[in-house]
Amino acid sequence: MSCPCELPGSGDKVYECERLKRTMTLDWCQLYLTRENYKRGWDKEAVEGSTEAAVELPPIREQVVGFMTSLARFASDGFRRVDKQEFERRVDICVACKFFIRRRGKSGRCKKCGCYSKLKARGRIWTCPEDKW
Ligand code: SF4
Repeated sequence: MSCPCELPGSGDKVYECERLKRTMTLDWCQLYLTRENYKRGWDKEAVEGSTEAAVELPPIREQVVGFMTSLARFASDGFRRVDKQEFERRVDICVACKFFIRRRGKSGRCKKCGCYSKLKARGRIWTCPEDKW
């Protein structure tokens, strides 16, 4: 299958995919072209407008905006962290959550906000988008 998009030169630059009508990166495009599960999910999303299709994380732009906003909030709180006990409580909740995308051990990302759970669980000001902590 050939790609109809005007692809960016290299790296992980984002671009608007003409076929899927969504923001993509070259890596994601490769997944789309080579992996049936990604293709099925993104095609479904393009047709139905579903946000819960194969895309496991929010769109890149949303993630960047979310990250910058979170960073600003963290700074406004004086970069304060939670204590070890609260950190572990939060991580344990994330690991058991249906929105947690496991990487290795307790490492992973939240499908809801795209944050790295072990990082997000540290900041006192940061909260779970599902109000679990
Ligand atoms: S931040 Fe909340 S929604 Fe996201 S994985 Fe953790 S518990 Fe689940």
